[in-house]
Amino acid sequence: MTRAHELIAALGSIPHETNPKLVAQRSRDFYWYSPVLKRQLEGVTGDIIVSPRSEAEVAEVLSACFRLDIPVTPRGGGTGNYGQAMPLSGGAILDLRSLNRVTSIGPGHVSAEAGAIIHDIDHAARSQSGQELRMHPSTARNATIGGFIAGGSGGVGSIRWGTLRDLGNVISARVVTMEAHPRVLTLTGYDLHKVIHAYGTNGIITSLDMPLTAAYEWVDLLMTHNDWLRLNQFSDLLACQDGILLKQLCTIEAPTPHRYFIRHQKYLDPRGHVIVAMVAPHALSSLEALCRQERVTIAFRSDILPENEKRALPPAYELTWNHTTLRAIRMDPSVTYLQTLYPNPGHVGKIAEMSALFGEEVPGHAEYMRFEGRISCDGMPLVRFTTEERLEEIIRIHEEHGCPIFNPHRYTLEEGGMKQTDEVQLAFKRLVDPKGLLNPGKMIAWDDPDYDFNKAGYYLFPGIKKEGTFADEIPSLD
Ligand code: FAD
Repeated sequence: MTRAHELIAALGSIPHETNPKLVAQRSRDFYWYSPVLKRQLEGVTGDIIVSPRSEAEVAEVLSACFRLDIPVTPRGGGTGNYGQAMPLSGGAILDLRSLNRVTSIGPGHVSAEAGAIIHDIDHAARSQSGQELRMHPSTARNATIGGFIAGGSGGVGSIRWGTLRDLGNVISARVVTMEAHPRVLTLTGYDLHKVIHAYGTNGIITSLDMPLTAAYEWVDLLMTHNDWLRLNQFSDLLACQDGILLKQLCTIEAPTPHRYFIRHQKYLDPRGHVIVAMVAPHALSSLEALCRQERVTIAFRSDILPENEKRALPPAYELTWNHTTLRAIRMDPSVTYLQTLYPNPGHVGKIAEMSALFGEEVPGHAEYMRFEGRISCDGMPLVRFTTEERLEEIIRIHEEHGCPIFNPHRYTLEEGGMKQTDEVQLAFKRLVDPKGLLNPGKMIAWDDPDYDFNKAGYYLFPGIKKEGTFADEIPSLD
């Protein structure tokens, strides 16, 4: 009996899918944001999708795959855009979306299974308790909470609460190990750093306890100014107003907003650089006073729109973070992007400096957030892509000017992060995934402990398979 048949036999009643077309479809994430990853990962596919319905079934699947040496790539909504969820060595795709219950809501916290859609968790917390999640990715309507913790970093709410790695922004996580007899571990405090943004390489998150904050009917605002530096100086001033409660704050350089925010276009001027903000209703008059004082124009505000007009528009947060990039790519496939940090102090000057250096080739986009207790900017500038060599040169120039790049044109944890081994995550992988079957190829330190992160170029995982691991073995269930 082949491994594929043995796995299917072991799965019993656990839902699974082997139709190659469906498997290929559910093997993809948003890796195509990057022309480099598109070239490297096009055609990568799993062999089987397995959809456990409980933590116990997750353990059953992992135990069978451990015994049969079958790689397992966990997957939530598939909205990651670094290729995090791409099954580089084929094998089983562990689709967690059937673990989607909100299990408890209390003062200041919510417990939910990892496959729960973030928007659903927020809606439950808001309707049952008048609370909401502190932060969420702009993909909240499609992304899962497990995928956010394992593959995300922060987002809408980070202007107030910082990033997911900040102590307190995740309360606890239940994680199932990849062993002959899988264990369920509960991680809290600094132990959470073992699995936060670890791409599921060292454990399957099955449920989370997340902090909540007071919910508001946030007002969406678009503010404009024709001077990019002045707009960012104002944004920084606004970010530092501790008394004005914001949920989202970013600046986007012209012509991006008018060119790509089609349904907001009538409120915008082609030359106007734009601030996208979400502000609590009771803070609006204070924000208006600041705008008057600094002569910044409020071009759009959602609270005075007729209901039908409001319903025709996306929420402002779907103009921000990597939705800005999505809107641009949809209209101009030659666009890609970078992920950088404009660190405090000097973040506003760096934003202006990079825009002055690159002009229309790299239109600016800065997400204002709290970072290590101070206001900094997570940069997500667009890039008008020409060649991979030029993209590398733009990255090198950013780094030479003190704007570190978290390279979204790489699928490994290290290259997409601090370009060094995360010893904590590596040690945990050795403990919980001794055969290295979880999301293979995403942790360089596991595959190539002596890898030199300073050398030019990129890491290419030798185990990439474009036809799956045992495609020829699996009986199609057509
Ligand atoms: P997936 O893409 O399915 O998986 C992400 C990673 O986590 C993969 O490595 C996967 O293997 C692993 N994984 C998934 N579930 C589990 C689990 N239960 N246990 C262990 N590992 C698991 N990210 C942000 O941080 N902030 C943003 O604002 C943001 N905006 C975005 C906007 C757009 C338009 C796009 C395309 C992406 C954006 N992202 C953002 C990236 C991504 O949407 C988020 O990180 C999202 O939270 C990922 O959730 P997901 O369920 O789609 O995860």
